[in-house]
Amino acid sequence: AHLDRIEAVDEVVHAFLHVDGERALEAARAVDAKVAAGEPLGPLAGVPLGLKDVLTMRGAPTTCGSRMLRDWHPPYDATVTRRLLEAGLVVLGKTNMDEFAMGSSTENSAYGPTRNPWDTSRIPGGSGGGSAAALAAFEAPLTIGTDTGGSIRQPAAVTGTVGVKPTYGGTSRYGLVALASSLDQPGPCARTVLDAALLHQVIAGHDPLDSTSIDAPVPDVVTAARSGDVAGMRIGVVRELGGEGYAPGVEQRFTEAVELLSGLGAEVVEVSCPSFDAALGAYYLIMPSEASSNLARFDAMRFGLRVGDDGTRSAEEVMNLTREAGFGAEVKRRIIIGTYALSSGYYDAYYGSAQKVRTLIKRDFDAAFERCDVLVSPTTPSTPWPLGERVDDPLAMYKADLCTLPSNLAGNAAASFPAGLAPEDGLPVGLQVMAPPMADDRLYRVGAALE
Ligand code: GLN
Repeated sequence: AHLDRIEAVDEVVHAFLHVDGERALEAARAVDAKVAAGEPLGPLAGVPLGLKDVLTMRGAPTTCGSRMLRDWHPPYDATVTRRLLEAGLVVLGKTNMDEFAMGSSTENSAYGPTRNPWDTSRIPGGSGGGSAAALAAFEAPLTIGTDTGGSIRQPAAVTGTVGVKPTYGGTSRYGLVALASSLDQPGPCARTVLDAALLHQVIAGHDPLDSTSIDAPVPDVVTAARSGDVAGMRIGVVRELGGEGYAPGVEQRFTEAVELLSGLGAEVVEVSCPSFDAALGAYYLIMPSEASSNLARFDAMRFGLRVGDDGTRSAEEVMNLTREAGFGAEVKRRIIIGTYALSSGYYDAYYGSAQKVRTLIKRDFDAAFERCDVLVSPTTPSTPWPLGERVDDPLAMYKADLCTLPSNLAGNAAASFPAGLAPEDGLPVGLQVMAPPMADDRLYRVGAALE
């Protein structure tokens, strides 16, 4: 049924870059055979899923939305992929994304944009617009996203779906093509809170192949998602994430969600996190710095594209031609920003200062979490904008991440849950919930209360 649905709508939505129906059906039949044999199965065995095209899977291409990796077939499975396959999930294919996960609209994909199923003239968010749109268009009941600065949560908000960025280190980054290694985190995307929790439980947990993976029990997200009990919970509204610059419908639905939680017995307080105002500046130095370093591996020798290798050119010339042809404009912009920020004369002024801001943001979170169990804000300042509107204005694009960036910089858990439609345009609004590291279960408790 999901393959039929993809066939029917994906020409317009373009949530998928690659679909392998035969492999999916074979995987589904394997689950059927286990059922027939009376073998025990996990709760998600046989459930179809879309995988963001930045996670490796043997036997399928991994492009990261880039020309650079057009025909790259990784020889191994990411840990997240392996856990999905072992749990019997049926991978339908790989979902579209901004090139190397840089963007907030999926318009930076080298393979064309994804469209928002609520209004196909609008963006589905990014970088994981494919994963979110596949859910909203009923092409898949579950997808995997990755979140470096909001790429799970912002697409979830603008497509009316659920997206969770686990605590940094809560899910393995092994086999996730690195954008910014200190920020990247894979996580579950779904249409309901319980679905997301069940998927979270499958992919989370310690992985010796990822040196930043946390060796501790996975928080009990499924019990929390089934409960939804927020009575007595202390919920902090972050003063700096709201007010001027937020669409009226976003503010209205956010206020209503907070009132709902208060009505269910939560204790709502206002908290101030003054350093959050500097998160955008710090993120757009740290992320490009790490990205410029990580992307150095695309040297025309080891992975994917190679241009101009006709026996007359040096390795350096081939590398330059390949990087010129293989990377899109946004990726080049960030490589330039990153190498500049890391260059010896400017390192302290830019990268060093950004790291100090990062520490201040972490301290703001620590102080706020002493008073509150979770923090809340809108997920993103606006509803989805028309395709093309911000492509020539990087700063306007970056501002979509205002509310989501602090949690990546601090490494805590955060999620976006549907908060209804904005009255002015009838488009989805998301509520962001943030929890302390390894308290991911609290996100699901709040999400379930709202549902
Ligand atoms: N929109 C942000 C960026 O462009 C977030 C990216 C992400 O989370 N992968 O960097």
